[in-house]
Amino acid sequence: MAKLPVIKYGDPILRQKTRPVEDRQQVLDLVDDMFDTMYEEEGMGLAANQINVDLNFMVVDISHTDEDEGPRVIINAEVVESSGSSDLEEGCLSIPEIRATITRPETVLLRYEDEHGQEHEEHFDRLLSRVIQHEVDHLTGIFFTDYLTPAKHSLIDKRLSEIAETGAPSTGIIL
Ligand SMILES: [Zn+2]
Repeated sequence: MAKLPVIKYGDPILRQKTRPVEDRQQVLDLVDDMFDTMYEEEGMGLAANQINVDLNFMVVDISHTDEDEGPRVIINAEVVESSGSSDLEEGCLSIPEIRATITRPETVLLRYEDEHGQEHEEHFDRLLSRVIQHEVDHLTGIFFTDYLTPAKHSLIDKRLSEIAETGAPSTGIIL
């Protein structure tokens, strides 16, 4: 097991829609390292393109919160329906030291496959819904900062450029 480098904002792979997983073994070969990387970086989710792999899968674990959920591997995820609305502060391992309150649907119905090849349609809500929506966005080339209003986004433009150039912003910011 090993910690992998996390790809940062500015790398083109994070702006691409990932390819569907057809060979599940490719996922199984990577998930242990992805979980290690996510735990080491204190993240709650990690998308495959964040470790430079162009495939549609993610690992998620929010078990350190008060929500009783274990680690999950989610493959070829697709949001079928969403409803409600909630505001929550988000951060991202690919956009270090920048956090912002983002409005997203509260509940999603997700179609996906697990690491055993089983297909699911499952409702998610609360924190797990939020983390999954953030990772589904990654897998389609979207960052949480894309949801900021132009006025708020302008406050982080310089820092995003710094991350793209050096991997870290000169200062952190919470919006
Ligand atoms: Zn992220």
